[in-house]
Amino acid sequence: MNSTFEIAVFEGDGIGPEITAPTVALLNHLAGKAGGYDLRFVTLPAGAGHYARTGESLPAESLRQAAQADAILLSAMGLPDVRYPDGTEISPQIELRIAFDLFAGVRPVRVRPGQPGPLTLPEGREIDFVLVRESTEGLFHSMGKGEVTRDEARETLRITRDVSEKLFRFAFDLAATRKQAGRGPGRVTCVDKANVFRAFAFFRGIFDEIAQDYPDLTADHAYVDATALWMVQKPWEFDVLVTENMFGDILSDLGAGLMGGLGLAPSADIGLRQAVFQPCHGSAPDIAGQGAANPHAMILSAALMLDWLGIRHENAEMRADGRRLREAVEAVVARGDSLTRDLGGTAGTAAAAEAVQRALDGAP
Ligand code: ATP
Ligand code: MG
Repeated sequence: MNSTFEIAVFEGDGIGPEITAPTVALLNHLAGKAGGYDLRFVTLPAGAGHYARTGESLPAESLRQAAQADAILLSAMGLPDVRYPDGTEISPQIELRIAFDLFAGVRPVRVRPGQPGPLTLPEGREIDFVLVRESTEGLFHSMGKGEVTRDEARETLRITRDVSEKLFRFAFDLAATRKQAGRGPGRVTCVDKANVFRAFAFFRGIFDEIAQDYPDLTADHAYVDATALWMVQKPWEFDVLVTENMFGDILSDLGAGLMGGLGLAPSADIGLRQAVFQPCHGSAPDIAGQGAANPHAMILSAALMLDWLGIRHENAEMRADGRRLREAVEAVVARGDSLTRDLGGTAGTAAAAEAVQRALDGAP
């Protein structure tokens, strides 16, 4: 059965269009070969450049079409000199998160043997864990609405039962999928600060309740400070980590650091109906227009999109293509002869993406 999936594409600002084009080309290449599914891309305007031209950062029509698409692929939005009148940054990606209730921020951290990175992996070990960051509440709840007087400033941490239950179910389902695919032992770790804050004891309590529904998986807890230490000392022991918004914000950058930088860090923001796939990095205006951007984080985000669509629509070919695309990038990075400048090489965006295509086609 051949099914066509519609992908809404936000090319974004800065290096966005430069990394989007080769990523879409790779996806078309895969879909064309597999035959088990088709992809139709719809490019939608939004971002800081669009705001500068039109006064709108996320047009209602773009939002409407994105809502109808099967998935959303987004590069990066925002430019340092284009801001709203109140001085805040233009970040339609945050508006999408709120509009579509994308509560689960998925940040996979993978370092295979031979891949560059700051840690020396012990013999026979690799890093392969997923950080799930709650993305709609927590300490970001009062974002932009904190109370500040001359002598005091306050922000509110908000954790709700409803969002926490959805978040934990997502994390356990993810651990089950990974276990089935032989990628993890089936363990979910709730990362919190339950020893100090009642809100985190509440968070942990809900985690323990949801864990009861997953008797085949292991549920455990860790404090966020210890987790930061272990992410450096023994990251190969994690499987799925689930945490609050602000803790997740900080730990995801630590995770990107384990992968040797932002150029290799993909992400997904997932809700019950819609999902946005985008690299962790920003629009990198300092290198825009040079053809020097690293496309790998974007390509890996596209691989996550294929994983998600494949699981959701029970399309085995899409799932297989998600894995093949991820492994092709990993092979190219481990080989090290087509690395972009941020990874210490001299290749441009096009050469790095072509190397991925050759790896997919099985060429050396
Ligand atoms: P944001 O606030 O949108 O996250 P940022 O200020 O954190 O943006 P980025 O745009 O992520 O910054 O860029 C940070 C640094 O990393 C810059 O020097 C940029 O050139 C570099 N960088 C980011 N992404 C890439 C990429 N894909 N390839 C090469 N270099 C990159
Ligand atoms: Mg940043």
